[in-house]
Amino acid sequence: MARSYGDLLALLSALEGKPYPFYKDLKGVWQGEGFSLRFVHVQGDPFASPSVLEVRYREGLEGLRVYGALEGRIALEDFLLRSLKARLRSLPRVGGSGHSGEVYVAVESPKVLKRAGGHLGEELHLRFRLGLPAHGRRILGKEAARLFKALLEHLRGFLQDLDTRALLAHVHQAEDFAYIQKRLPERGLVAFVGDGAILPRESGVSQRPLKGAIPFASPPSLRVAFRVPHAGEVLGMGLPRGLTLITGGGFHGKTTLLEALVHGVHPHIPGDGREWVVTEAWAQRVQSEDGRSVKGVDLRPFVHDLPLGQDTSFFSTEDASGSTSLAAAILEALELGARTLFLDEDTSATNLLVRDARMQALVKRETLTPLLDRVGDLKALGVSLVLVVGGVGDYLDLADTVVLMEEYLPKEVTEEARAVAQSHPTGRLYGESRYPLKVPPRAPLPESFDPRRGRRERVKGRGLRELLYGEEVVDLSALDLHENAQVRLLGALFRRLERLADGRTPLKALVERALAVEDLFALEEVPELSATRPLELGAAVNRLRGLVVQRLEA
Ligand code: ADP
Ligand code: MG
Repeated sequence: MARSYGDLLALLSALEGKPYPFYKDLKGVWQGEGFSLRFVHVQGDPFASPSVLEVRYREGLEGLRVYGALEGRIALEDFLLRSLKARLRSLPRVGGSGHSGEVYVAVESPKVLKRAGGHLGEELHLRFRLGLPAHGRRILGKEAARLFKALLEHLRGFLQDLDTRALLAHVHQAEDFAYIQKRLPERGLVAFVGDGAILPRESGVSQRPLKGAIPFASPPSLRVAFRVPHAGEVLGMGLPRGLTLITGGGFHGKTTLLEALVHGVHPHIPGDGREWVVTEAWAQRVQSEDGRSVKGVDLRPFVHDLPLGQDTSFFSTEDASGSTSLAAAILEALELGARTLFLDEDTSATNLLVRDARMQALVKRETLTPLLDRVGDLKALGVSLVLVVGGVGDYLDLADTVVLMEEYLPKEVTEEARAVAQSHPTGRLYGESRYPLKVPPRAPLPESFDPRRGRRERVKGRGLRELLYGEEVVDLSALDLHENAQVRLLGALFRRLERLADGRTPLKALVERALAVEDLFALEEVPELSATRPLELGAAVNRLRGLVVQRLEA
């Protein structure tokens, strides 16, 4: 027998003063006109994570089916969650202990991502959290009834009150983004930055656009046009495949541009400023990362012939140096299928970027092959590089495109850069390396993902930078993650990898398999799971200190 909203409010009032666990009676589905409310999870006490609720709409959904592609549907779900979040902000305040009265809709960034909290199928399901009110550990039933009366009111009017113009704009933006992203390869581009884009953020910790920023304007020589399905023709800078340098004086906006390109693998909401920054889907930022763990990587393309005959063909360390960690990050990205690598000189070990003529002359027994000597090999593999350089001029010899940032605006200076390279020869030798740029696949063993190693079995995301996995704290700070819910998904996927790993399946296939399941967002019945790419899942696996891999022959 379905219980009505009247029953719900009556039950809440009747719980007044009872011990908190009586809230468990709420579990299950409550029904009224047009929509139902399901208590997915009821918290055990007021200090625990708030309860999980799901509202389900069966009717009035026709107006929502405005999308023409999967990306549009994801954007619609994203929009609905954001709208719900805004609407529930005006719920009455309820006091009490712990999380009493807290309402939380898990949308943590301006990225348009598939999230567990929103799903439109036959029905529309939206999930959120709500802290059931208590004083101490006694139920505040009357307060709860007042809160739910208002909540039901808000949910009842939710679909009718949606801003349909904003909804359309949201969906269309994401579909236009996807349209450009799919066409970048055939246009020979790795990224597109629309004219008028606002790239800088308000501050290092803010995701909001900087007010009063200089809008982006493409250099005429790099300007391309896309005719997208909804917005018509959009103009902007197209970054070609190959080696692109972003250069310029300090503080002229180099890193800001690179950062925007890194973020551009995901669509952004209208108003973000980066809506028309579109980066190819298989792009990844790599950087030095002192102290990280590396497991079984064939580092020889970059690190070789160590003293005392130490082998680097199956290299592991618990404490990688700046150069080793960058070498590993590049090779791991290639192993996972990255097609474009982003690097900033600021966060890259210099000795892995370049060795200049003087050091070549002085040091004969060199153990590092710098990236500069691998540019040709990378291009032969079809991998592009976008490199921010302010100090290292040796790359000018090899660059296909050079963008100079001046007063936050880009100029194309490829010709000038070639002329400088000719008039200022470096005298540097470009040698053949003894070790080809090859990346043998590695297969993780299942015990890598056993969270019961050690005493504590727990899987928990902490912020954007850490995943607690059993006893281990996996450092994710070098990954480009934007929501804690992505970290949480990584944790859930690690558990799935424990079942999928067999010591024979290459890491790339393994992470794709882990992500390919239909019910990805049903892994846990929580609202806080949002999509991540195979590149991030693979990068997280590579940072697991408990990782055990087997080499497979390429
Ligand atoms: P660089 O990497 O060249 O040293 P950054 O990208 O770090 O420079 O930018 C330096 C500062 O300029 C940052 O504080 C950034 O927010 C600001 N900035 C970047 N782009 C713009 C812009 N388009 N308009 C206004 N300020 C900007
Ligand atoms: Mg910089």
